[in-house]
Amino acid sequence: MNLSRQESMDSFLAHCRAAGMRVTPQRLEVFRELAQTDEHPDAETVFRGVRRRMPTVSLDTVYRTLWRLEEQGLISRVQVLSERARFDGNAIPHPHFVCTRCGLVRDVEYAAFNEVEVPARMGGVGTVEALHVELRGICTNCRQASGARARRDSVS
Ligand SMILES: [Zn+2]
Ligand SMILES: [Zn+2]
Repeated sequence: MNLSRQESMDSFLAHCRAAGMRVTPQRLEVFRELAQTDEHPDAETVFRGVRRRMPTVSLDTVYRTLWRLEEQGLISRVQVLSERARFDGNAIPHPHFVCTRCGLVRDVEYAAFNEVEVPARMGGVGTVEALHVELRGICTNCRQASGARARRDSVS
């Protein structure tokens, strides 16, 4: 998230009002949960976080709320390999780094992303609705873990 937490809560409320969408406690808590992390959690992780503040909330409600917020353009969904959907409190397209080993997703600062243009002509393939930049690799933790394993193996 590039926005501060307060800024993103304010723009969430403004956007709900503009879209004529009621700000229910569930919606607020689901959004808050996403806005406070850079981990791009899946629905179950969001559910566990929300449940700490709203013990009566159901996983189903969290799912439906996530889809609804995404539909409204208030949050975005990260396409990670073929895994479960992951969600992002930042609805403005931005580049992600994805670890192909553990599935970690993080935002990356990449100024050149803003220069990338969608081709004017798609040669009949289809119509472009969004552009996502995803960098894939091995995260520092996984890299260190495999380094440690290699050292152990060479000792034994
Ligand atoms: Zn990793
Ligand atoms: Zn992100």
